[in-house]
Amino acid sequence: MKKISFFGLGNMGGPMAANLVKAGYEVCVYDLVPSAVHELVGLGAKAADTPEAVVADADIIISMLPAGKHVASLYKSLIGPADQPNRYLKKGALVIDCSTIDAATIKALYIELNNIDVGCIDAPVSGGVAGATNGTLSFMVGGQLEQFSAAKPILEVMGKNIFHAGEVGAGQIAKVCNNMLLSILMVGTSEALQLGIDNGLDPSKLSEIMSNSSGSNWTLDVYNPCPGVSESVPSSNDYKPGFMTNLMLKDLGLAMDTAIASGSSTPMGALTRNLYALHQKSGNGELDFSSIFKQFSQK
Ligand code: NAD
Repeated sequence: MKKISFFGLGNMGGPMAANLVKAGYEVCVYDLVPSAVHELVGLGAKAADTPEAVVADADIIISMLPAGKHVASLYKSLIGPADQPNRYLKKGALVIDCSTIDAATIKALYIELNNIDVGCIDAPVSGGVAGATNGTLSFMVGGQLEQFSAAKPILEVMGKNIFHAGEVGAGQIAKVCNNMLLSILMVGTSEALQLGIDNGLDPSKLSEIMSNSSGSNWTLDVYNPCPGVSESVPSSNDYKPGFMTNLMLKDLGLAMDTAIASGSSTPMGALTRNLYALHQKSGNGELDFSSIFKQFSQK
């Protein structure tokens, strides 16, 4: 069985690594937060004191880190200086970066790793903490088909839908397209619901009507932002995340960077990013992203 190193044991990486351990893989973990490491060791993972020791003998290196700068800096230290590269990574190993980061960072990393005979794919996820815990994430993978095929059995332990989006970086592009659309749908659903409420409609009845009409969409049907319409969603639990406004804003920033780089016109995405920036500034960064509804409902 392949030996796995896992970096980043936060809200997402912790349960993802736990699922690999439960599936019987030998997993060596690393995080800057000792308690996160101890929790995984308690489940049967191995640990080492330095990132370099964690990757010794690893066939697969998975990272689930906050942003591009963390990913770039981790692998820079593992690859080593240009005059004596690759002191730590096994030749033929495969890096699977699952973080949501800019496509440019993963493309640059792919080239550096390729030069030292280490594979690299981007595999950002959708499905949130619940998906990570239940092993039902969607993975959007960018990379060579051969490397995708090698990663697939491991990704299947952590996810339900594993998509090959295209060449390296394509997973990140698919991810920002999806989240930009999600945020636009969330804002549209929120303003439509509030328009109905302001004109005397019951939001549950209006949701039922629109869900069975052409306005049907995931944010209305499954993740309704109006408190009290659906049970077990963040809006009916004081907007506890779920998927934080801070993270949605980060993804919308990546979407805008992507649009600028490709010269694409994304007016709805730009407007939505601005709405979420205002929402964050109003103190809602730690709330679920469906709390944008409050911007429309507050008197
Ligand atoms: P998090 O902040 O909970 O966890 C990140 C972890 O990385 C932390 O435990 C931190 O200590 C660790 N870390 C930072 N630098 C490190 C380093 N150099 N070496 C080892 N560990 C390091 O974040 P999260 O919610 O788990 O998100 C991780 C990634 O997944 C982000 O890119 C995020 O955008 C993406 N994502 C998150 C969600 C979600 O719902 N939380 C959903 C989809 C995608």
